[in-house]
Amino acid sequence: MNHFFYDNLNIYTAIKLVHKYYKTELKQKNNRTYKSLYAAMKTIETVAAPRMVWKIMPVEVYDCKLAVLDRKYTLDSSKCAQVLSRCDTAVVMAVTLGKQIDKTINKSNLRAHERTVLDEAASKAIEAVADMAQKHIGETCALNKGMTYRYSPGYCDWPIEQQGLLCSLLPVELIGISLSSTYHMNPRKTITAVFGIGDAAELKDNGNTCSQCSLECSYRRHDNLLYAW
Ligand code: SF4
Repeated sequence: MNHFFYDNLNIYTAIKLVHKYYKTELKQKNNRTYKSLYAAMKTIETVAAPRMVWKIMPVEVYDCKLAVLDRKYTLDSSKCAQVLSRCDTAVVMAVTLGKQIDKTINKSNLRAHERTVLDEAASKAIEAVADMAQKHIGETCALNKGMTYRYSPGYCDWPIEQQGLLCSLLPVELIGISLSSTYHMNPRKTITAVFGIGDAAELKDNGNTCSQCSLECSYRRHDNLLYAW
């Protein structure tokens, strides 16, 4: 299987779009929160160096409970298996904003409030970059196909420990990502994820398992939109 390495302007555009979004919100609401977020996004835009790697793998799902990539790698999540059950292919991906973001957020001269706002803006930026990355992969490898939402270890019923599996499947070191013994990503603003590719008609709901789940959960996905930007 090929690994893909990608760090061009397309995913950087995602950060510019978040910046633009905050600018619009600031104009409309003109409150302190958006003023701070807009300023923070300006900093993020300057120091972020978004990069990504991904890999396409065949996926098989057994009884809607067990998803196995490339006949070898089992994903320990029944929700993931549900999501991938209508797919014949899965994409494993990793995106990061780079190390400079962490250094900027951890600067000793920042006040607690400034640090929190920067952290929030960076979280928004990495989600947007992941959206943009997924969009790019879809346009490159899944033309006329459907795609599911992406799912990450630590989300829903998927144990965080499987960050290790996803990182082992990708050349993450090429984009400066490493994993601690407690499965925390370095740089902090990094996402690893899996999503499925399959028949467009079959995946109209983007494999959203939340619509059939009764748990009280802050991660619930309410809409049917694959991309935020
Ligand atoms: S509502 Fe929460 S627990 Fe249920 S499927 Fe969605 S993310 Fe998972």
